Amino acid sequence: MGAAIDAAREDVAYACRRLAEERLVHGSAGNVSVRAGDRVAITPTGSVLGEVGPRDVVVVDLDGNLLEGDRAPSSELELNLGVYRRYGAGAVVHCHAPVATALSTVLDELPAVHYEVMLLGGPVRVAPYATFGSAELAANVLEALEGRSAALMASHGAIAHGDDARQALERTILLEWLCDVYWRAAAAGEPRVLSHEQLAAAGAAFARQRSIVDMSG
Ligand SMILES: [Zn+2]
Repeated sequence: MGAAIDAAREDVAYACRRLAEERLVHGSAGNVSVRAGDRVAITPTGSVLGEVGPRDVVVVDLDGNLLEGDRAPSSELELNLGVYRRYGAGAVVHCHAPVATALSTVLDELPAVHYEVMLLGGPVRVAPYATFGSAELAANVLEALEGRSAALMASHGAIAHGDDARQALERTILLEWLCDVYWRAAAAGEPRVLSHEQLAAAGAAFARQRSIVDMSG
């Protein structure tokens, strides 16, 4: 178990570095966590994400009790733990990516203008605003994540979860890309929104693709 939680700390640091490289974080805004069994490695509060190393990462149990580390866990600890408890995820990435955050101030749902949104489970919802770090915010975001692996948080930012840090990171990058595509499309004209049937067909095509990949090992 020691090795698993150490690997989780490394994964948190890796994801933080990648977020900074992709210009999806600024300063200490955002947090990353990775679960190893019933323990969670999470960025400490107030840390500059791009500079987080494995030794800076703190470890808590699923009730939020601090097990390792001498700093307080991220202020969005309850939100991260809620995603593990409700959705059984392996990793969570929350950031204030610029385009996602901009759109979170004007939309109630990101219009499905590109089929890749099905890689996030369907049209991405915007969770209603509540104070950062609050139980109310955690509840709003958990609701918005129903059947989805990502959500926008009104006037705040973005969140994605996955089986591991790489998948949560990929989904975060995809969400920012989808937001950017919608932004550019809406600036150029009236974007066509895909119908429920078109989205369902894309979802089925992705599922077939995954089963082929699984069978080929
Ligand atoms: Zn935040």
